[in-house]
Amino acid sequence: MIPVDEAFARIMAQKIELPVAEVSLEEAVGKILREPIYADRDFPPYHRVTMDGIAIRYESYLAGEDTFRVEGMQLAGAPAQTLTHKDECLEVMTGAILPKNTDTVIRYEDVSIIERRGKRYAHILAAPKMRLQNVHQQGSDRKATDLLIPEGTLLSPAEIAVAATVGKASLKVTQAPRVAIISTGDELVKVTQTPLPHQIRKSNSYMLQAAMREQNVLADVFHLIDDKSLLLDELQQKFKKYQVLVLSGGVSKGKADFIPEVLQELGVEQVFHEVAQRPGKPFWFGKQAAGPVVFALPGNPVSTFVCYYKYIRLWLRAILGAAPAWNLQAHLTTEITFNPKLTYFLPVKVFISATGWRAQPVPIGGSGDFAGLLAADGFLELPPDQIKFSPGDTFPFIGFRS
Ligand code: AMP
Ligand code: MG
Repeated sequence: MIPVDEAFARIMAQKIELPVAEVSLEEAVGKILREPIYADRDFPPYHRVTMDGIAIRYESYLAGEDTFRVEGMQLAGAPAQTLTHKDECLEVMTGAILPKNTDTVIRYEDVSIIERRGKRYAHILAAPKMRLQNVHQQGSDRKATDLLIPEGTLLSPAEIAVAATVGKASLKVTQAPRVAIISTGDELVKVTQTPLPHQIRKSNSYMLQAAMREQNVLADVFHLIDDKSLLLDELQQKFKKYQVLVLSGGVSKGKADFIPEVLQELGVEQVFHEVAQRPGKPFWFGKQAAGPVVFALPGNPVSTFVCYYKYIRLWLRAILGAAPAWNLQAHLTTEITFNPKLTYFLPVKVFISATGWRAQPVPIGGSGDFAGLLAADGFLELPPDQIKFSPGDTFPFIGFRS
């Protein structure tokens, strides 16, 4: 049995190289960028009008002009017009290029438009404060050729907008690994089936698949019964196709818990078996020399859940090339006593307060009570070298809701 930090370090040390894939912009959100993105033009690319109103020469206003004849209209999407008389103006709309010979925009709210003998005039009500007022100046945000998004960035909608504006219809991203989720157990039946009294519907594989989908990793799901020779055959097949195997069930001390021996017979080298934690102690982890990385998780749903969020999620992030996730800490709200020398993953609900995040323990009936998780937002990681945990103390928080 090894401590949680050691298990974590050994998992993170398993690297797999993932190739680059080109995906359309529509599919890129949540993926890891594998190319730098540069500005193809200035940001903004032209002096952009930011208010509907009129464009004038500031000098004409300074020279005493306060009523400007309207020469015409500059709409967004039209090439720049030219103001022909310096004491006149052009009406301009938000998003339009600033007309030539003008340098200042006065919004409609600060002028009154007068129609006289078929001509339009704009009379200034509120003095313009400076040249280039209400103009988003060309290149003021970024210059052409500037690095906008570095390689390795996790693409959020903000990066998608920037990629679109520089003309990237597709992006190079890390290709997700090929992952198989395999639940094991004779008692498990399909979600569409009516279980007999001694059976249950499998839920872990759906949980794992859903959790991975949130990271843009689309896993295939399988179920195998507790039959040693069948497990040997089937797992060997899976090794050919998948880079990562996540198993649930069959790793404890039961008479039908064949997974560790089967994996070792198939040449998967055990990196560890059993972690000093609750829940999830029977966790087995290994790697086959030229084959997959294998996470064999205990089948109790809360154990599977904790092991995914504490280890696999962060490992997947790392191999995909994303920056490490934020380390969140939360204050415990009530005293907790936990005797065993194990790291305790305490289910909690979190609240934001003036002093930071507060974590309220959620009552849960052990590692089989996954309905108990419905009231939780995540787990507080309580260290093994302590028995009493006091209100107000902070501990790492592992969340599973966004
Ligand atoms: P095991 O790790 O195989 O000893 O299973 C521990 C407990 O978790 C047993 O009560 C199983 O029925 C349950 N379990 C195992 N796999 C799953 C699964 N895929 N979905 C829901 N419960 C499971
Ligand atoms: Mg089992």
